[in-house]
Amino acid sequence: MAGKTITSDLYQDEYEPSFVDKWDELIDWEGRAKGEGDFYPRILRDAGCTRVLDAATGTGYHAVQLAKAGFDVLAADGAAEMVSKTAENAARLGVDLPVQEADWRTLADDVPGEFDALLCLGNAFTHLFTEDERVRALEQFHKVLRPGGLVIIDQRNYDSILDEGFNTKHQYYYTGKGVDARPEEISDEAVRFRYQFPDGGVHHLTMYPLRQDYLTGLLADAGFRNIRRFGDFKEAYQHHEPDFVVQVGTA
Ligand code: SAM
Repeated sequence: MAGKTITSDLYQDEYEPSFVDKWDELIDWEGRAKGEGDFYPRILRDAGCTRVLDAATGTGYHAVQLAKAGFDVLAADGAAEMVSKTAENAARLGVDLPVQEADWRTLADDVPGEFDALLCLGNAFTHLFTEDERVRALEQFHKVLRPGGLVIIDQRNYDSILDEGFNTKHQYYYTGKGVDARPEEISDEAVRFRYQFPDGGVHHLTMYPLRQDYLTGLLADAGFRNIRRFGDFKEAYQHHEPDFVVQVGTA
């Protein structure tokens, strides 16, 4: 793999200010809202959740949507640059949203109290490159949830990327017009994505290609029960078909 040594701290360098400034152009809040519909609010309401931790808030897309929908949300992220962008977006949109810098590996020390649900969305969990760190992060997620609380983690469909090559319909995620997002290098150890923006700017993110069954196993080992999986937001799906897979577990 080209570039720097791959560790789970690499995200701190990869989300450089000029990339963070363009993140909203990439994810396209309006297109994403259309693709997701009421999927997350529905799952949260069905489980009686009100207090939600968005643990990988990025620029605050889900935290803002859920706060607007009446949930009591804390927006957290390990990258200071992302946390300040979330605060800026929330203020611009007139949403009262507390924000907090917190790394998943030490989450329970950094965020206050117990939550009804924890979100780790936007393919974020695949920023962890060792099994120890994945296990530690899931233990921390479990620790900040009340008994019966929900963990919700999504990821790109790496099973399909590894087994069949990259192919995306851009229907649900990263719908930003004119942004070309595709993997430049693919191996069992890491997938390096290249994002090219209409102004010619190019950025990269390196992710661990987490397989669906592997994450389900890790969630179960961390004590989560009743693990449900959704492919592009549908419960019935073919393993290799969707672009993104969401897993929901109960603490
Ligand atoms: N959830 C947002 C979205 O869907 O637009 C952001 C997704 S972005 C791909 C992944 C986020 O995870 C980044 O904001 C990054 O800073 C954060 N992140 C990566 N590793 C982390 C860690 N170990 N602890 C906390 N945040 C982390």
